Amino acid sequence: MSEPRPTRILAVDAEIPDPAAIDEAARVLNSGGLVAFATETVYGLGAVATDPEAVARIFAAKGRPSINPLIVHVDDVDRARACVSEWPAIADQLAAQFWPGPLTMVLPRSFAIPDVVTAGLPTVGVRCPALLVARNLIARCDRPLAAPSANRSNRLSPTRAEHVLADLDGRIDLILNSGPTSVGLESTVLDLSTDPPRLLRPGPIDAERLSEALGGHAPILPSTDSSTDRPSSPGQMPVHYAPRTPAYRVDSAEEYRDRPDLAGWAIIQFGPEPIEPDARTARQICLDSPERAAHRLYDVLHILDHLQPPGIVVVMPPDRPEWRAVRDRLLRATRPIAERPRSS
Ligand code: AMP
Ligand code: MG
Repeated sequence: MSEPRPTRILAVDAEIPDPAAIDEAARVLNSGGLVAFATETVYGLGAVATDPEAVARIFAAKGRPSINPLIVHVDDVDRARACVSEWPAIADQLAAQFWPGPLTMVLPRSFAIPDVVTAGLPTVGVRCPALLVARNLIARCDRPLAAPSANRSNRLSPTRAEHVLADLDGRIDLILNSGPTSVGLESTVLDLSTDPPRLLRPGPIDAERLSEALGGHAPILPSTDSSTDRPSSPGQMPVHYAPRTPAYRVDSAEEYRDRPDLAGWAIIQFGPEPIEPDARTARQICLDSPERAAHRLYDVLHILDHLQPPGIVVVMPPDRPEWRAVRDRLLRATRPIAERPRSS
């Protein structure tokens, strides 16, 4: 393992990225280094996707299991096509509608993409991010960038440069700090290598919009209960994206009130009608819409980890399509309250 190196931080405007900062980040990447940069979803930890040694450094820095494939980021459809061996008409349609944006398409990979990126799979996930910083960086490198979320494996995804630094300081070369991300939740992952397509990870582009784009043919959805589900996609582990603070979920206000042992815990609720504040609660957070919940969820969990309440209780949002992506992350970040012994 290489010596720990100090991680440099360069500030860059999200909308008008300073070319000098992009040049420097591209120089680091093209010499085999690791650079964290924002996309509209979360911060990614990038390496040149066609450089297997650089990509191996991503796995080492994150402590990521080698069976978990990385998403390859591109700046346009042409670069995506160079990463895959088949580019079906439906990929063109989806790219026209949703790129640049938070949709990852899984397709048969080309020889340009090394084994280490795909965890040996015959397919590769490709995505063109919306944030200009990310696309300018890829264009300047003139290579696709493999970039998983810029956090240690199994920790919370980062939506701010500060989150990246707290997790990966000394393990990566550079962070491009362009401020908080706008969407806040990882991309939707759609497998187009199967017929019909399969939704591998729910995300900001929901299944309803995808089925419209697929001409009314709904993609096969993952099971909603990820606590018992086998991973629908490598890397979609049941416990993932988790805070360090013990975090449990309940399905209703009644279930919460029935647990006097949660005194002093922080409570996170969803939807426009939060339950009455309770004298036992140290902190109440209410995220009223699916968009706001996506935008704020990881930041709220990072803040609570910092404040260290004895625990976090999440009152789950309703099992409805608009909450699917947020529910998916909550099911991975928390355990059912029934798993916690009753004590007071
Ligand atoms: P991350 O970038 O950390 O959000 O994780 C990327 C996720 O995308 C992986 O954990 C997989 O679930 C999914 N993924 C990436 N590439 C593939 C692929 N070739 N086949 C199936 N799923 C993939
Ligand atoms: Mg991740």
